[in-house]
Amino acid sequence: MHSAIIPPDFRLPPEQVPETVVEQLQHEERDECIRRIKRLLRAQDATLVAHYYTDPDLQLLADETGGHVSDSLDMARFGHEADASTLVVCGVRFMGETAKILNPEKRVIMPDLHADCSLDLGCPIDAFDAFCNQHPDRVVVVYANTSAAVKARADWMVTSGSAVDVVRRLAEQGNKIIWAPDKYLGEYVQAQSGADMLLWQGSCVVHEEFKGRELAELKRRHPGARVLVHPESPAPVIAQADVVSSTTGIIKAATELEADTFIVATDKGIFYKMQQAAPHKTYIEAPTAGRGATCKSCAHCPWMAMNSLTKLLDTLRRGANEIFVDEAIITRARRPIQRLLDFTTRRGQPVYGNNDA
Ligand code: SF4
Repeated sequence: MHSAIIPPDFRLPPEQVPETVVEQLQHEERDECIRRIKRLLRAQDATLVAHYYTDPDLQLLADETGGHVSDSLDMARFGHEADASTLVVCGVRFMGETAKILNPEKRVIMPDLHADCSLDLGCPIDAFDAFCNQHPDRVVVVYANTSAAVKARADWMVTSGSAVDVVRRLAEQGNKIIWAPDKYLGEYVQAQSGADMLLWQGSCVVHEEFKGRELAELKRRHPGARVLVHPESPAPVIAQADVVSSTTGIIKAATELEADTFIVATDKGIFYKMQQAAPHKTYIEAPTAGRGATCKSCAHCPWMAMNSLTKLLDTLRRGANEIFVDEAIITRARRPIQRLLDFTTRRGQPVYGNNDA
């Protein structure tokens, strides 16, 4: 099995990672904001799609206005099926781009166009293209958390819930793989599938900070708790998981497993939906702030936190922050996304399936 490490390491310099700032509004201000957003959504024939990691108020708004709260591709899928002519994407930029790629005829807007992602930023198209060109014999598989241009360079796009199945199938067909951008998810997929993979060295600034040693201590203090881990986390954290899964799979596990207490290693924005899905259970954040912690985020994505009620209201009022993707890129980027949609449809599986470990 090939497990080469690819230089250079595309770790994002700390100064490029913003502080996580969560908007705090007074009750009246919040309620007024929500009222006005609802009016503008109706007036603009707009539907709100929000990621699980965004502020609970935005998730609530999506639920209350007939929108949708989910993972990135499912957000785009919902947007495609929705009648609305405008999609308001509360999430990070690659999610807005994916929504535009799948729905080029619709207007796609976001509360903050600076809402980025360390995985996307850590995989610039020029460097990635040059690397792929050095290995023309390999199938290029990229994670959803990439720019439209990187998707356009890929043969396949996968999600955390579908990556193992897709890569395993490609390996069974005799293919060798280039994987980008998340090295931890890549290592996990490689271990599960046995595929020959060259791993790009990107990482998520949130999941990378979960700590294996501190997690072991926490487990000792809560012996009955089950551990739910997103596979963007480092291997020592994944090794202690009862379930390794996508965000949708983590919520499902909390509802289906008999345990009352869960230790959760993913962005804490997910607790809103977990508490909705299984309100009588107890959820504990997996530790990030132990020895050696360097996070500015500590289990909450600084870019996801840029989505706020006041920015959403301002975006709708001004008709601002529209996502545009070059038509040629849309055409090429749609192909690897469509391959994934067809693959999961053939297998009768949701795109965000459960990779229980
Ligand atoms: S949580 Fe990590 S992977 Fe998700 S958007 Fe933030 S930086 Fe990107």
